[in-house]
Amino acid sequence: MSNETLTRCALVTGGSRGIGRAVCLELARAGFAVAVNYAGNQQAAQETAESCRALGVKAEIFAADVSRPEECARLFEEALAAFGRVDVLVNNAGVTRDSLILRLSEEDFDKVLDTNLKGAFFCCKAAARPMMKQRFGRIINLTSVVGLRGNPGQTNYSASKAGLIGLTKSLAKELASRGITANAVAPGFIDTDMTRAMPEAAKAAMNGTIPLGRPGQPEEVARAVAFFASEESGYITGQVLCVDGGMAM
Ligand code: NAP
Repeated sequence: MSNETLTRCALVTGGSRGIGRAVCLELARAGFAVAVNYAGNQQAAQETAESCRALGVKAEIFAADVSRPEECARLFEEALAAFGRVDVLVNNAGVTRDSLILRLSEEDFDKVLDTNLKGAFFCCKAAARPMMKQRFGRIINLTSVVGLRGNPGQTNYSASKAGLIGLTKSLAKELASRGITANAVAPGFIDTDMTRAMPEAAKAAMNGTIPLGRPGQPEEVARAVAFFASEESGYITGQVLCVDGGMAM
């Protein structure tokens, strides 16, 4: 199909806020129609979709808790019904429940693994069939430098993010012959709601570990995601790109 007749569609989980919102906007700027998923924050999702539409593309919002397989299946059914295809899947939805291991509950371990890792698995599973049929797909998973290096107080989160790297590489090998790439973007310390909640002292200490000496902005991560979503990255698969100001070198 030529680019004149085809509008590619991107589905972004957790597109309502933070990095996910910036990814939606960057992909809209690149001409993608955007399916904006959110968990509970409908108003924020609506604002993301309106900003995408203002850039001249179609955008719709879809509520779904990615930690629930039946909601992921429904999310894809609804997105495919609305857009006809899903070319790009960005597994961005993520949560933290930080605690040192002695105090970390099984519930908080499961919550983080279920959302960050199993959520991506459910969405990849739902995306694989339509992408295989169209013999084109781009899967981009938001991991973290913490998944590469570990972090005290984040055994659950780092396990989920390290798991995502393994998932990405295996998927890349499994789906390559069908024209589908799978890559991961590993942000360092990015200025979003997730990190705003940290105590000031912890933020200052974090900045000290970043060679570029400042937190990243969601847009800086979004540009790396958009690269992996583009035609230009077609010969790159199974990679992890750190967007971290040099933090994980
Ligand atoms: P954020 O500002 O806290 O936003 C989280 C997003 O995920 C929201 O859109 C939220 O939707 C959605 N979400 C949460 N649970 C969900 C669920 N069960 N189902 C569907 N959506 C769900 O987070 P962020 O900082 O932008 O992080 C985005 C991704 O980057 C995450 O995977 C995070 O682990 C990763 N990351 C972030 C940093 C950082 O420094 N910020 C660093 C490394 C990696 P609602 O608005 O509806 O709640």
